[in-house]
Amino acid sequence: MIDKKHITDRFIKYITIDTESDPDNPAFPSTEKQWNLARVLVEDLKKIGMQEIELDENCYIMATLPSNITHRVPTIGFISHIDTSPDFTGKNVRPQLVENYQGNDIILNQEKNIILSPDYFEDLLQYKGQTIITTDGTTLLGADDKAGVTEIITAMEYLLKHPELKHGKIRICFTPDEEVGKGAHKFDVNKFDAEWAYTMDGSQIGELEYENFNAASAKVTIVGKIVHPGYAKGKMINSMHLANEFMSALPAAEVPEKTSGYEGFFHLHDMTGNVEKTILEYIIRDHDAHLFDERKKIIQKIAQDCNTRLGHEAITVEIKDQYFNMKEKIVPVMHIVDLVEEVMKDIGIVPLIKPIRGGTDGSQLSYMGLPCPNIFAGGHNFHGRFEYVPVESMIKATEVIVGIVQKVAKKNTI
Ligand SMILES: [Zn+2]
Repeated sequence: MIDKKHITDRFIKYITIDTESDPDNPAFPSTEKQWNLARVLVEDLKKIGMQEIELDENCYIMATLPSNITHRVPTIGFISHIDTSPDFTGKNVRPQLVENYQGNDIILNQEKNIILSPDYFEDLLQYKGQTIITTDGTTLLGADDKAGVTEIITAMEYLLKHPELKHGKIRICFTPDEEVGKGAHKFDVNKFDAEWAYTMDGSQIGELEYENFNAASAKVTIVGKIVHPGYAKGKMINSMHLANEFMSALPAAEVPEKTSGYEGFFHLHDMTGNVEKTILEYIIRDHDAHLFDERKKIIQKIAQDCNTRLGHEAITVEIKDQYFNMKEKIVPVMHIVDLVEEVMKDIGIVPLIKPIRGGTDGSQLSYMGLPCPNIFAGGHNFHGRFEYVPVESMIKATEVIVGIVQKVAKKNTI
């Protein structure tokens, strides 16, 4: 049903437009070049016949697919992001197509000896016989999240060409700056005006996510006392030694490199120090709201205990919440996840429901009043030179969108 060449061509058109975002630029969007893709998308949405197409001053694109039924059903939405990760360059993406993949090593770059091998990336073996789009080893691919953009537009186009497929009003949005954590910041939930939505921003085929971490940052400032080392006995307090004590008091096994699934952690990601002053920067993560609070208390308690022992306030802790687990907002409307699971099974996809060990724009949107689970877009190895996407997974994601809108129209009369 979805034409393979057509979806491939559209995807390649989008990934060859550089849209890398910039974490250090406070401007919105963080890079001017994101407008280049935004303007192309506006033209493409016009071409396929979408309505109410709007590119706003913050580089968000919204558009409507009008209902083609007479009874009223909930308006739902689909969202993806147009920027690519600043972790790796997205300039001059030169995609390569591997047709009828046979499970062998894929040479990305002969000259530089860069090889995408199933010995290391064993997920590749799921895609034998399929068409895989890779990089040339020198850039990322941008399937995160231009696969999502491609799938949403292709699904809308398909629905417009097939009026016999019945659906309610559908809203779509493409956001800038997701990769620098700001994709939801200027998202106008009222203007979007959907009952619920899905981000098409997951990885491998079948992924369906509605749980993510609760997240906070903790800045630990440790102040010592500097005295000439020759005359320091009983006087000097070396803040770096206190920092070492602080770090050792945290549970050693609860770090990112030793945890998975639902296990939370403390992650020390930056440390600067001298005798007088040391600063430790942590992030705190846990899916469970109670355990998340406990973690914040543990950090405070270690500081307090040390201060009590020293008899003065040597350690101060500043904790800031960053985002919360969307599960709390999704569970009351669990039917929005269940229906995706049904659609996947209907079209022969095995649903992979698992907690995200991170955050998504959807988690922020869920707390802004738009419940927003995440669905696979099909790519693998995001944010680097080994990123790839099977075309067949993009086709399946497109079919999932087409299936969802029909199921909502059938099941949810208001
Ligand atoms: Zn993404």
